[in-house]
Amino acid sequence: MNTPLPNPLDLTDCRYLVTGAASGIGRATASLFAALGARVSLIDLDGGLLGELADSLPGGGHDYHVHDLADVDGIDALVRKVVSEGGLLHGMVHAAGTQVVMPARDIKPETWRHILAVNTEAALALARNMARKRVCQGGGSVVFISSIMALAGGAGSVAYSMSKSALHGLARSLALELAPIGVRVNCIAPGFVRTPMFDRLERGWDAAQRDAVEALHPLGFGEAEDIAHAAAFLVAATGRWITGTVLVVDGGYLAK
Ligand code: NAD
Repeated sequence: MNTPLPNPLDLTDCRYLVTGAASGIGRATASLFAALGARVSLIDLDGGLLGELADSLPGGGHDYHVHDLADVDGIDALVRKVVSEGGLLHGMVHAAGTQVVMPARDIKPETWRHILAVNTEAALALARNMARKRVCQGGGSVVFISSIMALAGGAGSVAYSMSKSALHGLARSLALELAPIGVRVNCIAPGFVRTPMFDRLERGWDAAQRDAVEALHPLGFGEAEDIAHAAAFLVAATGRWITGTVLVVDGGYLAK
């Protein structure tokens, strides 16, 4: 009789903090992690959506916290609360993100500072907690959701590109700092993925523009689950020798 192979994506007995969990990629990631056996702590702006999701996830022990991640100074206290109420963390996925499409000549400093706070500074403020024994003991994994706009650029995308490419440098340096305690840090750079953020962008396009953007993806637009799969791969045992890197998941956008 053959012994069944262990599932290297199994997340049983692990607990992850997922930001942006009310919608799109964060929601799909939290759902997949829970389906793989993890407990998840959901962070976003909308408590109603988070509560519904927490109740619908498989397994028990999920919780949620409403926090505006633009309040970077409040993030240490948020993480302390997450840990004191639900226990130690095995990792984090920072999927919360915000974007405006605006040419450099028009964008205001307060707008780009808000984008940087949510997309980038919050990532550092969250992830540095993984170095603290009261938060994480014995290894873990952090994933930042960046974007192909960190690698390819796009007109009207200056603030967003700046915020996402900074995540790549952050991940590399933090990976080196945290490797001695067994914590891995990586980015996922998605192409255009059908989520509410995508829907908001799409409303600004006519049919020809939409087709042109889709044609940049040889495999077509992605789904939130495509990014969730990559996040699971990185946090689980499948990613145990991967740190300080950027996993591009873009339907071939950057293959040209
Ligand atoms: P989404 O708008 O569906 O979800 C983003 C979530 O982040 C929302 O639930 C929102 O409430 C939350 N959020 C935004 N600002 C917040 C704040 N200040 N505090 C707390 N939560 C906040 O978008 P999505 O497409 O799922 O995007 C998820 C991540 O993926 C983002 O970082 C985005 O930049 C990145 N991304 C998306 C695409 C795409 O095409 N959809 C492509 C590349 C990268």
